[in-house]
Amino acid sequence: MPGSLRIGKVIGIDLYIHAGWLIILVLLTWSLASDRFVQLAPTWAGSTYWITALITSLLFFVSVLAHELAHAWLTQAHGLKIARMTLFIFGGNEDLESPPRSVGSELQIALIGPCASLLIAGLAYLLALPFAGTGTPEEAVLDYLAFINLSLALLNLLPGFPLDGGRIMRALLWKWSGDYRQAARAATLAGQGCAYLLIVLGIGSFFFGHFFYGLWTIFIGWFLLSAAQAAHMQTLIQTALHEVTVQHAMNVAAVTVPANISLQKLVDEYFDPLKLSSAFVVQGGYLAGQITLMEVHQVPHEQWGKTPVGYNMRLKEQLLVATPEQSLSAVLQAMVARGIDLVPVVEDGLLVGVLSLESVIAYLQHRCVQQAIQ
Ligand SMILES: [Zn+2]
Repeated sequence: MPGSLRIGKVIGIDLYIHAGWLIILVLLTWSLASDRFVQLAPTWAGSTYWITALITSLLFFVSVLAHELAHAWLTQAHGLKIARMTLFIFGGNEDLESPPRSVGSELQIALIGPCASLLIAGLAYLLALPFAGTGTPEEAVLDYLAFINLSLALLNLLPGFPLDGGRIMRALLWKWSGDYRQAARAATLAGQGCAYLLIVLGIGSFFFGHFFYGLWTIFIGWFLLSAAQAAHMQTLIQTALHEVTVQHAMNVAAVTVPANISLQKLVDEYFDPLKLSSAFVVQGGYLAGQITLMEVHQVPHEQWGKTPVGYNMRLKEQLLVATPEQSLSAVLQAMVARGIDLVPVVEDGLLVGVLSLESVIAYLQHRCVQQAIQ
């Protein structure tokens, strides 16, 4: 996802944080220090407000992480793989490598997140009891954690995808109708409905004097809207490409280069005249790897004449490789998730075609024209 930063690997999952988190950190720290904590304890020193607010914001981040890791842990316990996770206030955008599998496991995976948030809320509430009425920073932090985790659980239970409540709705609709794609479309439409509702509520609160609360609600609604719209678009594409396999959309006449030619010959006879910046490398028809202008330019120019392509290419083990029978929408999803625009299509080791975003668009245009003629 664009605008995300990798922060590490947890239980085998590459963890990213969404750039929006920085805005949240600033907005939350500011609203706590200048509004909520001032009302709770008007006599603190000025710096105490800001330090307590920053610690609270960071603990809020840890709470969201715990919520998302609970989903991820159970997802993996159900035997599904998660390649990466992008952390946000809701729907951690877990990039599943395989689509959902049964209504029961969907429901459990969706419910465990809000349960984790409720558990943290209960724990913070109990820990806050000894400090009740003292007006200390301990009371302020624990009190807020109890409140925000309860809010997080309730927000995530709203019935619209990508919120957990939307996943529950999708699973139940799927169970009743038996049509997963239809259920997914309905859940993403409901997600957009929830987002508009939050935005309207936020604007209302803003004008009725609840400045920070209103700002928060508008912000969350706006992010939910873009996430729900993206998810809706994805379900529409999945429906349009239903039963379409890679072989329908691959280019069988893509240019390939032999592994034993020099980089100089590659540039002179392939890249420059054909205006290419990348090509798949073959050895006797078998896929060996991929060479791009970037790898060519890693070698000093005077050595291009005596460096074979095969010596400096990216090996096929490092590439995303498709087979002709694979579902096109699944491969497209993997391409988008990994930011790849060119995928070799291989059958028994032999390169039989190349799938690119251009070849997919060409296929879709061809199909539209065919449908218009019929
Ligand atoms: Zn969740």
